[in-house]
Amino acid sequence: MFMFFCNKCFLPKNVENTNKYYFSNCGHVFCQSCTPTGLCYICKTPYAARTIDANMTKSMAVYFESPVNAFRRFQKIVQFQTMQDALNAHYYVNCLPQQIQAALKKLNGMKRIDAHLDEKLAHETTRIEKLKAYLAYKKRSLQERHQRHQRPARGRSATSTAYSSGQNSRPKTPTISTLSDVTMSSVDCTKSTNLSNQSDSFLDHVRNDFTI
Ligand SMILES: [Zn+2]
Ligand SMILES: [Zn+2]
Repeated sequence: MFMFFCNKCFLPKNVENTNKYYFSNCGHVFCQSCTPTGLCYICKTPYAARTIDANMTKSMAVYFESPVNAFRRFQKIVQFQTMQDALNAHYYVNCLPQQIQAALKKLNGMKRIDAHLDEKLAHETTRIEKLKAYLAYKKRSLQERHQRHQRPARGRSATSTAYSSGQNSRPKTPTISTLSDVTMSSVDCTKSTNLSNQSDSFLDHVRNDFTI
């Protein structure tokens, strides 16, 4: 500890001197025998002081610390903060760009997946619309077939004549190109059957439906 002394009587604090010493706010030191009653003897400012002992605050104790020890502590502080700044700079210069590149790569992958899903959704929407048209056609065909079976024999003859002359309200058959685009998966979704393979048999059924 720094060897201090009273700034008025100049007696040093040592083992033999049991007097209390005080450290004022103005930075001057006085022994208990020379304590100012109002103003500091040296700088003439209002006197306010604390006892110099082992219980003094850390901010007060640093004034009595060995300058060599303080310098070594200062060196450790500088080394520590310099190392922390270097690590921080290394992260921003080397690590962060790599993380950004990885994030951008992942983002681009997600965009490609999103575009693929949009394309698949549009395709499936179109397929569903074509299936709906096909089912509506089949429903109309079955209804008309059922109606023909319920009519009298002479009525059916007239209907047959009308169909053969092309003046009936025969349901419009989906075109072959439309059917070829539609994949039937309503019966078993795990098996896709292209209607183009069934178009001939399908048209045969249609002809049979309208032939009396
Ligand atoms: Zn003194
Ligand atoms: Zn003073």
